[in-house]
Amino acid sequence: MDKNKKYILSLDQGTTSSRALLIDESGKVVGKSQKEFKQIFPKPSWVEHDPLEIWNSQLETAKDAILKSNINAKDIHAIGITNQRETIVAFDSKTGKPVYNAIVWQCRRTAAYCDELKPRYKTKIKEKTGLEIDAYFSASKMKWILENIPAAVETCRSKSLRFGTIDSWLIYNLTGGKSFYTDPSNASRTMLYNIKENKYDKELLEIFGIEEWMLPEVMHSNRDFGLTDKKHFGVEVPIHAVLGDQQAALFGQCCFKEGDLKVTYGTGGFLLINIGSQFKLNENFLTTIAWSINDKDMPWHAPTYAFEGSTFISGAIIQWLRDGLGIIKDSSECEKMAIGLNNNEGVYLVPALVGLGAPHWDQGARGTILGLTRGSTKAHIVRAAIESMAYQIADLILPVKKELPKDTFIKADGGAAKNNFLLQFQADLLQMPLTRSSQAEATALGIAYLAGLKLGFWKSFEDIQKTWHPDELFIPRTNRDKEYSLWKEAVKRALKWEQ
Ligand code: ADP
Repeated sequence: MDKNKKYILSLDQGTTSSRALLIDESGKVVGKSQKEFKQIFPKPSWVEHDPLEIWNSQLETAKDAILKSNINAKDIHAIGITNQRETIVAFDSKTGKPVYNAIVWQCRRTAAYCDELKPRYKTKIKEKTGLEIDAYFSASKMKWILENIPAAVETCRSKSLRFGTIDSWLIYNLTGGKSFYTDPSNASRTMLYNIKENKYDKELLEIFGIEEWMLPEVMHSNRDFGLTDKKHFGVEVPIHAVLGDQQAALFGQCCFKEGDLKVTYGTGGFLLINIGSQFKLNENFLTTIAWSINDKDMPWHAPTYAFEGSTFISGAIIQWLRDGLGIIKDSSECEKMAIGLNNNEGVYLVPALVGLGAPHWDQGARGTILGLTRGSTKAHIVRAAIESMAYQIADLILPVKKELPKDTFIKADGGAAKNNFLLQFQADLLQMPLTRSSQAEATALGIAYLAGLKLGFWKSFEDIQKTWHPDELFIPRTNRDKEYSLWKEAVKRALKWEQ
């Protein structure tokens, strides 16, 4: 233990696990802890989490990381929070207790309702929020809770109902119920937030039947979000930075310049491109707030925006091979199985287990395996699953490849980016170089950077940039055009399976 050292505690609340990392002034991870939690599937295509399990697992990992790194909690100068986005927790502010399970971003229960909204509101909602109307975002989930959960109706009457994004749910619990805040990167995923005007939008609130008092107040991504209650760590620690997980990864990959981009292969697969401080729309992408930094040189109305391509199932298809099909025991086995084959031998898997996100936005698409023969083995299915993660990202990047700067390279991160076969296949498909950052934990690191800027650990973006190093470079080796055109055929057959 070094007495003079200062640390940041990054809380990274993901879809499948809660993680806590302690990061020192040089950006080095000095301790970490991770805990998986239960995925609840009450009906086909419904996905829930227990909000108390989310909170308890997050607190446990924070305490465990502190213990493991043998530091004193008073040397933690700030907490940064990054989190799964869109997932919503309804709770009673009088008791702090959830009134229902968290409805997870992947959950499709409101798909039919969202389809009904499209003819009338598609254009308006895209113009105000940058989003496509889809069950993915929080607003329709909140409406469902209000209409279906008696405890929500009661707490709504007494005005104690709150709808928390995961960051605001953690802030609420960390501060012992004192603060209920979120940041623009998270608010911009609710479908209730006007990202041009930087505020909740009255008309949208009305469409979904939500009142503003139910929602967390939106603060800059690097504001003071409150102090942790002493009972958690023995000292009060300020919460200084909040970003949704994909935006934090963009920050952690040092994508500070317009045109910089990263791909995260986590539960879902996400491409984010920094588009600077001008709000823009693009038919291939969502527009979202990347971050909104309270800086004397940056006015409030100029957040940094990003184009985003979100695919719902990326690494989650490997989890499904493990837990659903039972053909692998551990995700680490699948790379070896895939490279055991010379090619995919015509087998394709479209991982539309919860519909398809970008660029198709088809809520009725369903998972499909095509091209099986008597010679097909589980290795073919594993390889097809890994390839599908790369094809989905190619569907997003290839249409805009010509518009990207010539020297663009893809920065990859996320749990599945450990898989070298995946990254090589991706570079081949795109015919673009791809790097994996030396910091596998881009998300947790990103939020630490943001908190560290405020603390003066780093003075500027350039300062942070110096800590970023590529770990491995993947250069295109093989042409994959033929495989890619068959993938496109496979996708056509998965679309609109459920009407
Ligand atoms: P999240 O933050 O969304 O919970 P992570 O970034 O931790 O997700 O990534 C976890 C995902 O990565 C899991 O869905 C898992 O199946 C997948 N994964 C982990 N290791 C590998 C691997 N070697 N090959 C392919 N996928 C993997």
